[in-house]
Amino acid sequence: GEDVLISVPIGTVIYDATTGDQMADLTESGQSFIAAKGGRGGRGNSFYTSSVNQAPRKAQRGEEGEQKKLRLELKLLADVGLVGEPNAGKSTFLSIVSSARPKIADYPFTTLYPCLGVVSFRNYPPFTLADIPGLIEGAHEGKGLGIQFLKHIERTRLFLHLISLGPDEQEEPLARYKKIRKELLSFDPSFEQRNEVIALTKLDLESDRKGLKSLMKKFPKKVKVFAVSAVTKEGMGDLLLWLTQSLQKLPASSSK
Ligand code: GDP
Ligand code: MG
Repeated sequence: GEDVLISVPIGTVIYDATTGDQMADLTESGQSFIAAKGGRGGRGNSFYTSSVNQAPRKAQRGEEGEQKKLRLELKLLADVGLVGEPNAGKSTFLSIVSSARPKIADYPFTTLYPCLGVVSFRNYPPFTLADIPGLIEGAHEGKGLGIQFLKHIERTRLFLHLISLGPDEQEEPLARYKKIRKELLSFDPSFEQRNEVIALTKLDLESDRKGLKSLMKKFPKKVKVFAVSAVTKEGMGDLLLWLTQSLQKLPASSSK
């Protein structure tokens, strides 16, 4: 019989559903693998033709093919993964820097699906940015939309952590940053080593610039902190320049 070919999106990981073993990780266009081998075909009638029997009725049955139960998991491949609380401005950020059009609104959990955008900044090579639904404290225990989407940022090279400076936030930005970090690390302790950058968003709503400067100094020293506004575009150029240049220095894809 004919081969059965099943097309899947780039970034699909295939597991044996019975053993849980990973069988393939399709990360490139055109890549393929044999999930289950077909059985050897039997000898057909023509094999049995001879001078005395030119139209044999005899034929061999083919062997059974392999049967397998598989589990397919899609893990998006993006250069930068947007993380942050609901309402931090992640979807707005993606829509400003790329032509992706995620749903944006002033209520939490507007984004129910991961969304990808391509960012072209000046003449630099373009990079991809993934927006995932917001995280809240307890996400790793299934609160909010939980961590079901975190697998989509597993394979990003850099995390862009957005924190809102908006007036309706109950807690200090640094405390909110730490909460989200905790959720990320509970999901995968190796995220500790992932490169990250912080952007304080909604800068247009922050009038205390002096306070902002001292706030920015409170974040861990090894992490670069930017302040941006999607409305006035203030700070956006600096952040995009930093992102493009940092990506050029980082290895092509993460280990996962
Ligand atoms: P997400 O949940 O992190 O994806 O956040 P959204 O992008 O959906 O934004 C949440 C709300 O914040 C929306 O009402 C946006 O219009 C608003 N917002 C996002 N960025 C800015 C900004 O830079 N300035 C102001 N004033 N509002 C913003
Ligand atoms: Mg969103």
